[in-house]
Amino acid sequence: MLLNKERQFIKDYGLKLLEKELTKGTGGNLSIFNREKNLMAISPSAISYKEIDINDVVIMNLEGEKVEGKQKPSTEYQLHKIIYKNRKDINAVIHTHPTYSTTIACLNEEIPPIHYLIAYSGYKVPCAQYATFGSKKLAKNVSKALGHKYNAALMANHGLITAGINIKKALTITEMVEYCAELYYRTKNTGDPKILSNKQIKKVMNKFEDY
Ligand code: 13P
Ligand code: ZN
Repeated sequence: MLLNKERQFIKDYGLKLLEKELTKGTGGNLSIFNREKNLMAISPSAISYKEIDINDVVIMNLEGEKVEGKQKPSTEYQLHKIIYKNRKDINAVIHTHPTYSTTIACLNEEIPPIHYLIAYSGYKVPCAQYATFGSKKLAKNVSKALGHKYNAALMANHGLITAGINIKKALTITEMVEYCAELYYRTKNTGDPKILSNKQIKKVMNKFEDY
């Protein structure tokens, strides 16, 4: 079987998404890109994370062709592959529907730098324009929002996407963005959140490099 290590990570990290309440049911999907082999391991579509076995993980190339696997790949495979094509610094992508990030996404707003941990994404978390789930248009909108600047983007009326150098980093970014989304929601409901400057966030980014 191809990409055994990556298959196991997809299974293990899928379970973590449920345990950490970052998504519900079969919502969301995750992938890992092996740059040496030029192949991506992606979660199967519509199978509960509790039931996914390593044999269910689908292996695809960046042309969007299935290379190995009997299940259907995630409906969002185009969203994952466009990120690996455009970003050489990214080897893992996690898409989830966490409550607070999705709340802000339903307002079609971005998350401003209200807390220093936003630096896990960049200077903010942008919000990608709405398009139907699983569509090429959605993949394009999300890729445009991420650009080369951000490691996370809200997806209007849908959820959150994060991208990292590896799957562990992508999960950390998901947790940090969801925390910032909760803080933004709570501060907006109690008062007027104070926004950090780009200069202040830049200092945090520099410190993160050897954190
Ligand atoms: P899949 O089960 O096909 O991965 O779809 C879930 C989802 O979140 C679609 O955006
Ligand atoms: Zn989704």
